Amino acid sequence: MAERTYPGVCLVDGTETTKRKAKNDIKKCLTKERGQDQDATSWLVQFQGKYRPGYWIVLLIRKDVTLKAIDSKLRYLWLECCGHLSQFTIYGHTFQSNPDRNYGDNEEGMNVSVDSLFRVGLSGEHLYDFGDSTYLTFKVLDFLPFAPKERNGIELVAQNHPPDIRCSSCGAPADIICLECFYEGDSEKAFLCEGCHQEHECDEDMTLPVVNSPRMGQCGYEG
Ligand SMILES: [Zn+2]
Ligand SMILES: [Zn+2]
Ligand SMILES: [Zn+2]
Repeated sequence: MAERTYPGVCLVDGTETTKRKAKNDIKKCLTKERGQDQDATSWLVQFQGKYRPGYWIVLLIRKDVTLKAIDSKLRYLWLECCGHLSQFTIYGHTFQSNPDRNYGDNEEGMNVSVDSLFRVGLSGEHLYDFGDSTYLTFKVLDFLPFAPKERNGIELVAQNHPPDIRCSSCGAPADIICLECFYEGDSEKAFLCEGCHQEHECDEDMTLPVVNSPRMGQCGYEG
């Protein structure tokens, strides 16, 4: 079977890359554009939609930020709709955004430095919203001598191009998801352009926009 390449862009210098090549491309770009800084150390971490692997990002994460800071960044970039709970799973431990001590002592909060958790090659999961859940997986790709440019210590350094989603009716780029079709298993028919949506027979208020996120079409997520 042909491997999908999942194209995207390296945001350090704006050049094309793919999910698979991103790690090496980003390292080359950072070395060329910024030069190595032996006093700085950051994790290079790739996140993707667990069930929607075409959505991927790579973050440069300062060595000692907290899981909470990464959770905020993921919400900002990809996930936030109505302030749902979220959770990381790492080495079988769960770290919740709002831990409730009454549910046993397995759940730690997210005020934990990644310095004590991450190592190169580590993989884990992130879940946003225990109702209409969006599942992400992540992998620590590398540990590098560069500092993130963002003040919160987390910089988005690569992202997938929006997948080419077409109107099921006319083949133009799709802008709208009909949620009635989407949740009634007719997901083939759910993606529509503005024009065809006006002719579409379902409830016209039951829609969400097509957005570049693994949370597309879930809860009230509008990007
Ligand atoms: Zn929501
Ligand atoms: Zn159309
Ligand atoms: Zn419909």
